[in-house]
Amino acid sequence: MKHKLKGWARELWSRGLYHTGLWRLVDRLMPPRLLVLAGHCVEEEASNGGLPADMKLSRGRLEYILRTLGRRFPLVSVGAGQRAIAAGAERSMVALSMDDGYADNRSALLPLLERVDGKATVYLESRPLEERRVNWSHKWFWLIDKLDAEQATRLMMVEVTDADTSERLRRLLEEAPGDLAYRSKRVLKYEAPAGARDEALDRIFQEQGGDERALCERIYMDWEDVRALHSSGRFELGGHTVHHHVLSTLTAEEQAEEVRGGREVLVRELGEDAGVSFAYPFGRRWDFDAASADAVQAAGFVGAVTTHAGVVTKGSDPLRLPRWMIDEDTPIHHLVTEACGGFALLRRLGIDLVE
Ligand SMILES: [Zn+2]
Repeated sequence: MKHKLKGWARELWSRGLYHTGLWRLVDRLMPPRLLVLAGHCVEEEASNGGLPADMKLSRGRLEYILRTLGRRFPLVSVGAGQRAIAAGAERSMVALSMDDGYADNRSALLPLLERVDGKATVYLESRPLEERRVNWSHKWFWLIDKLDAEQATRLMMVEVTDADTSERLRRLLEEAPGDLAYRSKRVLKYEAPAGARDEALDRIFQEQGGDERALCERIYMDWEDVRALHSSGRFELGGHTVHHHVLSTLTAEEQAEEVRGGREVLVRELGEDAGVSFAYPFGRRWDFDAASADAVQAAGFVGAVTTHAGVVTKGSDPLRLPRWMIDEDTPIHHLVTEACGGFALLRRLGIDLVE
């Protein structure tokens, strides 16, 4: 009930601000801020057709969001925006960020940014670039796309050598939830031992005729693509670790290796301006810890973004910067309200309508 009421109040407040134009006034009243949008892919059947819908936006939708926000706010990169806000910028800004480094970022996002005259930050996993290999979740998505969530979960239940994981998957199948794809991925991500999960998934992937290199070529950019983004002048390239593990599940040394290793190859290929900003894989507060933040700083990054909602202001912790996740269904009035400081204004009054 409380949750419902909150959602209703959020709609009322943000629609009101947006449709009356009052958001422009709020923007003038509130201190300068940076809204960082976060996504993964621009929808493109040939490259990301097999990826889950919540990782994609259509070109039309993304262009509409950027044009609407871009009429009032400069569209900057995360690193540039963060530095400007910390240095006392007088205007608020919006930054688009895309995680992992998918192929559409070059084929669809680059021309889109040229059309709207904007910039973006792409956070790159380094292993797909260096070894043309993908992390476990892409084998999982591929399997679900080829079979379906139920069959994929059943195969995993049989193949995985860890008894607890197998039992968890069996119970999920028994409950047969509507969001089985999502729930089974959560079990594999947070509950299954990584070694047993990866080994079983590799076996199933091969048995089903999967080709890891071909999959990587299809969905991820290669270095040539990344260099094209870099030389366009519209992209900041940031770090997103080597393997895209949940950092909080690793030791401090392993975390340092993941974060530093990801930055080293970026700087090697693109120079120092590629190693400014970092995104924690998955980005929820339980996905990283104090050792992750230390690793980010030690590796030489200036800031790190999470996937918790909010805006960056002068006092924000540079190693835990908020971002606003966007997909096809994200309402424009929510984004405008966050960008103008509308939700922050309410928080000042003791009302928190977000998260
Ligand atoms: Zn990611």
